[in-house]
Amino acid sequence: MASPVLPSSGVLSPLGTDSVRPAPGFWGDRIALNREVTIAHCQEWMERTGWIGNFRRLGATPAQRGAHPRQGREFSDSEIYKLLEAMAWADHPNLPELAATVAAAQEEDGYLNTRWYDDRYSDFEWGHELYCYGHLIQAGVARLRAHGEDELTKVVLRAADHICRRFMNTQETCGHPVVEMALVELYRATGTERYLEMARRFVERRGLPALGDITFGRAYFQDDLPVRRARVFRGHAVRAVYLASGAVDVAVETGDSELLSAIEAQWERTVARRIHLTGGLGSRHSDESFGEDFELPPDRAYSETCAGIGSIMLSHRLLLATGNVRYADLAERTMFNVLATALALDGRSFFYASPLHVRVPASPLEGVNQVAEGGLRSPWFTVSCCPSNIARTYASLAAYLATSDASGVQIHHHAPAEIRHGGLALRVETGYPWSGAVTVRVLEAGSGRISLRVPPWASGARLSYGGAVRPVSPGYAVAEGEWRAGDEIRLDLPMTPRWTYPDPRADAVRGCAAVERGPLVYCAESVGDEPPLSLIRAGTATPVEHHLLDGVVELDVQASLLHPPADAWPYSSPQAPQSAAPPGQPAPAPAGEPLRLVPYHRWGNRGPATMRVWLPTTA
Ligand SMILES: [Zn+2]
Repeated sequence: MASPVLPSSGVLSPLGTDSVRPAPGFWGDRIALNREVTIAHCQEWMERTGWIGNFRRLGATPAQRGAHPRQGREFSDSEIYKLLEAMAWADHPNLPELAATVAAAQEEDGYLNTRWYDDRYSDFEWGHELYCYGHLIQAGVARLRAHGEDELTKVVLRAADHICRRFMNTQETCGHPVVEMALVELYRATGTERYLEMARRFVERRGLPALGDITFGRAYFQDDLPVRRARVFRGHAVRAVYLASGAVDVAVETGDSELLSAIEAQWERTVARRIHLTGGLGSRHSDESFGEDFELPPDRAYSETCAGIGSIMLSHRLLLATGNVRYADLAERTMFNVLATALALDGRSFFYASPLHVRVPASPLEGVNQVAEGGLRSPWFTVSCCPSNIARTYASLAAYLATSDASGVQIHHHAPAEIRHGGLALRVETGYPWSGAVTVRVLEAGSGRISLRVPPWASGARLSYGGAVRPVSPGYAVAEGEWRAGDEIRLDLPMTPRWTYPDPRADAVRGCAAVERGPLVYCAESVGDEPPLSLIRAGTATPVEHHLLDGVVELDVQASLLHPPADAWPYSSPQAPQSAAPPGQPAPAPAGEPLRLVPYHRWGNRGPATMRVWLPTTA
């Protein structure tokens, strides 16, 4: 089974990229764009920046090395490994040559790192050596499952055995998790139990503590508390969700229900208090971390692409372990509003951070972006973790769409695709997320339940098959029967645009509302001399839909522009305070002009712009 995560037990089993074939559509188009454009784009930049050259450099003499310093940050090897993973899932022709370049740099005992080869394991807090191995191992697992053994998989086994020899009986771990979930997956792919035991020990020793204290505090790398004692995700958001993913994997394979419950509780509390409307994670730019509960300022939202991807990976693991639909619901929100947002429509530039409010249009930039922030997608970054993460995620995304169990097939994410399981073959046809109609055609006969996820916003959904129509509630709509070729099941999800209000404790956006339609968050975008978004006041009448020729749906709301006072002192004390609508209540519609809202994932494709998701509804 060609899936990045393949637990040996759980309520649901993944259907891999060999069972789910995406067809043209929202996700299918992006998967194809990734294979045809983004993967090669990433490789070109890794050559241009010298990060692939770092591997060739290790074969040179010390004198030659001295003349050609190593390029990039201490973790740049991991980008080559994520690219190799993307190539493995996409069966990309460039893989063998790149894998050979990596293989040539590996030392006799399995050690492999272009930064620390002459100073091994001297900086666990920031060195990222085990982090790099984690991504190398994930690439090897992808190659094993999508292709079979080759030079890359041999490199990976040598590296994993080196890790087990070096770290099994120490108390050390890495400042950046990922090796945990990688080792569990390698155990799943090979059956070699020491990989699972090594992963278990890495999870358990964290928080004892295992690392030195740092400026940001040990919570930055989740070393402030043992994993099973924490109550909420905290610290660096990518680290937090990668570690939690590894902990779920360990819990599932070792039958540790206490550890699994601990991660479920942390997920639940985080999703109730520390998440942006888009599914984005992280509120602080200085340490790329979660903020305190309800610290969710839209303009300071960090929402790193990698944190969104890690959240999708975690939610998918929890879905497989428990079968609970809420995990698929969050994965969908994050896929449409973080993952899809991060990649430009041409597949060649990326967001690192995705705030929900951009006050100043960015300046176009040629070359490498030195910072994570911006407001325009960049072709490459000094810290370029996100582009290669996007590439490997799209390359394996088909494996996230559907699952199976003993009773049949579950379709969690609605996308045109062919799905095969057992004897059953299905074709999903849909214009989702623009249209709410999802049709499943039976191509080859079979029996069993066919379950289609009904998202939490879709009250009034209907399921039709066998000549009957019935209402279905959020959760899963289940069609059951003996299926013959040509049979058809249809799910209709209501796609009326809706206003969404924040919990009043999310005080940075109190008095604001946002518009969603289906799984998509919308935003106002202002390009050039279009109205300034800082002065708008929106009315909360039902938005008006505009269906564009390419299927995209934009929305109009009514908004008026406030008049700013003189530019002297930005506060005033009027005699009669203006009455404000209480939070959560629709404001009276101002006499305004239509304000066009675009899907959040499409913003920034028209050039430098300001943008906001949360629209003030009061003065
Ligand atoms: Zn990143």
